[in-house]
Amino acid sequence: MEDIAGIYLNDRVVAASEARVSVLDHGFLYGDGVYETMRVYSGVVFMMEEHISRLRNSASLIELKLPKSPRQIKLAIFETLEACGHKDAYLRITVSRGEGPIGLDPELCSRPTFLVFADKLKPSPRDYYEKGMALALVNTRRNLREALDPQIKSLNFLNNIMAKIEAKKAGAHEALMLNHAGHLAEGTTSNIFFVAGGALCTPSDACGILRGITRDVVLSIARRLDMKVVEGEFKEEDIFGASEAFITSTIMEVVPVARLIGRTGARDFFHGGGDVTKMFMAEYRKEAASYVENTRAAGPSIWGFTE
Ligand code: PMP
Repeated sequence: MEDIAGIYLNDRVVAASEARVSVLDHGFLYGDGVYETMRVYSGVVFMMEEHISRLRNSASLIELKLPKSPRQIKLAIFETLEACGHKDAYLRITVSRGEGPIGLDPELCSRPTFLVFADKLKPSPRDYYEKGMALALVNTRRNLREALDPQIKSLNFLNNIMAKIEAKKAGAHEALMLNHAGHLAEGTTSNIFFVAGGALCTPSDACGILRGITRDVVLSIARRLDMKVVEGEFKEEDIFGASEAFITSTIMEVVPVARLIGRTGARDFFHGGGDVTKMFMAEYRKEAASYVENTRAAGPSIWGFTE
């Protein structure tokens, strides 16, 4: 197994060889657990508070009591990053229901498994930013909210994995899923935006998406710049008729869509993104850079040590 640079399991940093989880862990057996992925820029975890609160929300939606307070989670993050030693890193927190006898009842597990790992960030291919990504509109529908709420960032990602399989078969990098009603929802690990009629459009929460933290940053940039923003219900034709499209995610940031492969044909967009996309790519990077600067300036108190 490839070694991961920094691993924190339950209550301490451990060597990769010691990082073992039980075969009876319900995260492994049933996908019973939640996670968060964060991006670390120059040693600073971007939007750390927002990621911790989304983790808390996911945990509360599955009635999982997190084994650590937000302050303890931050301490675990910093210990992991110290062990990791990379300033530009990928960091993931995973909390599963824990070890327990076979059976779905969460009460069978007395202690959740808490895992943080961090490793050197492997940036997405430059082509994604310089040319753009290909997206395929797939047949796999996003989970019905009433069946499994996409706001739960759960360890069961099969819905998204099925969409990813389809996208790869279609020759695309990422999938675009519709919801049960045929409205645009999101990608497998990204949110979708497009520009139409002079407005920045993105599916609303009600469409059954994971409310991306990158999506929120993009929306706040758009509002600050007085752009018209529409969070709503959109059909496949809306994005096919758009002038530009891009996707967002913590790890990839803002990536232009160069090609959209639909069920009856494909649509090409600007090579490397249109003007609006390029503006968001640049503004997002500025936002991350100023977050890093402000966080450093605020000093260790933002880490929660003084709480
Ligand atoms: N949707 C899904 C299903 C995801 O897994 C992700 C990645 N966390 C996103 C959207 C983008 O969210 P964020 O910007 O918070 O990374």
